[in-house]
Amino acid sequence: MDHRRFALLFIAPILFVSASVMLTRICRYPIEKMVSANEFETLDADALTAAPTQPVYDPRLTACCISDADKLRAQLGEECSVVIHPPFVIGGDFSNEELRRWYHRTIHPATRAMQDEYLAHLPTRTIRLLLFRNSDSYDHYCETLFGDRYLSVYGYYRPVERTVMVNVGTGSGSLVHELTHALMDQDFSSAPPWLQEGLASLHEQAVVLRKQDQLQLCGRVNWRLPRLRQAMLEGRLEPIQSLFTSESLLNEQEALNYARARYFCLYLQSRGVLSLFYQSFRDWGYTQDPTGRKTLQEIFGEKAYGNLHHDFSKWLRELDTDAYST
Ligand SMILES: [Zn+2]
Repeated sequence: MDHRRFALLFIAPILFVSASVMLTRICRYPIEKMVSANEFETLDADALTAAPTQPVYDPRLTACCISDADKLRAQLGEECSVVIHPPFVIGGDFSNEELRRWYHRTIHPATRAMQDEYLAHLPTRTIRLLLFRNSDSYDHYCETLFGDRYLSVYGYYRPVERTVMVNVGTGSGSLVHELTHALMDQDFSSAPPWLQEGLASLHEQAVVLRKQDQLQLCGRVNWRLPRLRQAMLEGRLEPIQSLFTSESLLNEQEALNYARARYFCLYLQSRGVLSLFYQSFRDWGYTQDPTGRKTLQEIFGEKAYGNLHHDFSKWLRELDTDAYST
């Protein structure tokens, strides 16, 4: 075999594969650098131990979790572990001990706080939480399990399978964002997109605090704020009421829509009415109030509702970011 033929058959393919791998890494690098971290914290160490009685789940749920965990172990393979904390089946490329730590430090406090503040219905069906330590393993399992590619760098929730997929390398708050979707799905599944994403993204940067006998998930400022303030400065902020009638937040203004929904939820929390709003809205029912407008009118009064955009914009302008930082 002459030298040219040898180079064509053996060296060229090796060079091509190496170049492809390098190109993939170079292309991915800026994306990963752009990902903003989401941090969730439990600041009050006594919050959980002093919390009121633990919720009691239907014992049949434990049996369902055990059976689902067996299926999940087979699907994930030997690289991953699976642990059970009803209603959750928690799996991912961590050891059993690490997955339990995720449960005790993040999943459990966030769930308890949501039960205290918002949820009227305990989950009656299992919820799978799949945690992956970086974008490589996350991308791999998204594609292997569901054929999903590049849906979100942080994570997403699949309602049909009641499964959360999350890249916890982007921060514990990404897990709490998706956990909020999973818990709302069994409590208020007809909630409009603005409330689903507003509350979930509020929780991606939040702390759990104890207020009297209740745990509370208090939102903090995060990377979504500058985009919102910039839009306000440039006069591009539409009246907040237009958010309520949006059938989807996923359009060319997606990032701004998410920021509006998140900071409107933080505004409601700062006014002390977020929990009341969620519960009243859910209990009123989708047919009575599909967008939340009537519930807000009821809580704020007709006149203040008319002034809502002005008041929200003023609050946003004057928001003390130090007081809301983690
Ligand atoms: Zn979401």
